[in-house]
Amino acid sequence: MLPNLIEYHRPTTMSGALRLLARRKVRTVPLAGGTALVPSRDPSVEAVVDLSALNLAGIQWHAQQAHLGAMTTLQTLASDEIAQRYANGLLTEAARVCATRHIRNVATVGGTLVAGDAACDLLVALLALDARVTVRIRRIRTLALDEFLNAPSAYVDGGIITRVNFPYLQIPHGAALVRIARAPSDAAIVNAAAFVVLDGGMCKQVRLALGGVAPRVIRAASVESELEGRAWDDALAARIAEQFAASLTPPSDARASSEYRREMAAVVAPRALQQAWARAQGD
Ligand SMILES: Cc1cc2nc3c(=O)[nH]c(=O)nc-3n(C[C@H](O)[C@H](O)[C@H](O)COP(=O)(O)OP(=O)(O)OC[C@H]3O[C@@H](n4cnc5c(N)ncnc54)[C@H](O)[C@@H]3O)c2cc1C
Repeated sequence: MLPNLIEYHRPTTMSGALRLLARRKVRTVPLAGGTALVPSRDPSVEAVVDLSALNLAGIQWHAQQAHLGAMTTLQTLASDEIAQRYANGLLTEAARVCATRHIRNVATVGGTLVAGDAACDLLVALLALDARVTVRIRRIRTLALDEFLNAPSAYVDGGIITRVNFPYLQIPHGAALVRIARAPSDAAIVNAAAFVVLDGGMCKQVRLALGGVAPRVIRAASVESELEGRAWDDALAARIAEQFAASLTPPSDARASSEYRREMAAVVAPRALQQAWARAQGD
């Protein structure tokens, strides 16, 4: 619970919500599913603004872009029929393994972004899909998820994430999520998501994101740029991904040591790339 909570608001307009969040005398924060905020027991929170009446839930698939409303629950995402087909179901798989059904029924896309778990499967998948985040404070700002994750709380201070969007490509591509957890339903210790776009036998675009190897999920930009524009070579991709993993200095915690995380990064990164490539070719 939030021990010093004195106000609960459920505005029906965005301007009303932003007015409440702009107050400086009463520390006011957005409330989405509450699955991270409420157990945080943050003593500084005095008021919450429930975002559920702002019409921010829902998934839209346009010709070239997909939009995930910030209040879309992880379960809605996991059950979305187009998401189940697009990019080999990368997003639906990530949403499903991210949390148990009870949590998925209330936890939202926006809340997951701000919580910014360092091994969050959904964040790894969204990074691999080149997602962008739209935040509304006084004006509307859209920024790359990679940039947003540098300081989620700072980017949303006094504002509201309204949606996440990513390219909805109609050209050959493949994607994969590979994760290591103590048991399959546990939170990931280390994970990797890859997204590969083909152009003939060439690798037109490569995205590789990893979780559990740094204080936040990261993109392996050097691996991506080394592979893009080349003919695919499984052994080369594996070598480049392993070299990248070897350069990491992951944090240690109760769940895994730094050394274990580095070793596992060298397993999941090449595997995700190889699976994404094979799927792009229809294997
Ligand atoms: C039992 C349990 C297991 C969990 N397992 C996992 C796991 O495996 N992986 C994982 O990543 N997380 C896990 N979590 C953490 C949490 O459930 C997720 O991070 C969740 O997705 C948060 O979403 P929410 O909608 O509940 O956010 P909330 O708790 O409502 O909010 C989280 C933060 O985001 C802010 N916020 C929410 N929505 C917006 C918005 N639209 N705009 C601006 N700010 C916003 C809030 O003010 C708050 O600071 C777990 C939690 C529990 C209780």
